[in-house]
Amino acid sequence: MLQMKVCGDLVLRTVCEPVNQITPELLSTMDTMVNMMREQNGVGLAAPQVGFASRFLVMMDPDSETVYRMINPVIISRGEKSCTMEEGCLSVLGPDGLPVYANVTRPESVVVEWMDEQGVKKAAQMSGLPARIVQHETDHLDGKLFIDYLPAVRREMVMRKVRKYKR
Ligand SMILES: [Zn+2]
Repeated sequence: MLQMKVCGDLVLRTVCEPVNQITPELLSTMDTMVNMMREQNGVGLAAPQVGFASRFLVMMDPDSETVYRMINPVIISRGEKSCTMEEGCLSVLGPDGLPVYANVTRPESVVVEWMDEQGVKKAAQMSGLPARIVQHETDHLDGKLFIDYLPAVRREMVMRKVRKYKR
């Protein structure tokens, strides 16, 4: 059983350590994370969200329903064009226990490199929704949350809702 960490938990603000060995525990943790992501209708989940200060994540491309299990992912380039999309996070919950959404502007496309669950190095260019998701999730590995990008007034509006969330 993994427990979802929510805003206020310090693990969400930790710069995570690289994974140096692919263990059966890591693989089963990632499987559990995929299940949690699906159950909560999420499209991504990063290790610190379930309490591990370690650089791995799972995500899904909602269009193709391709599931990625990424170990040590790195965004190696960002496109010049940016776009604004609504984002939410399974760790940023409002009083109803559901994610709070807000518009965030980010690069429209990125190139990401990672190691898959067999230890094989992978790379992909992503744009649109998957690019958005991989940026949001890799941010988690650096202790960053999407609310950090919001203008102060908007962020305060979100935080007011977050503070009303009761576990
Ligand atoms: Zn998130």
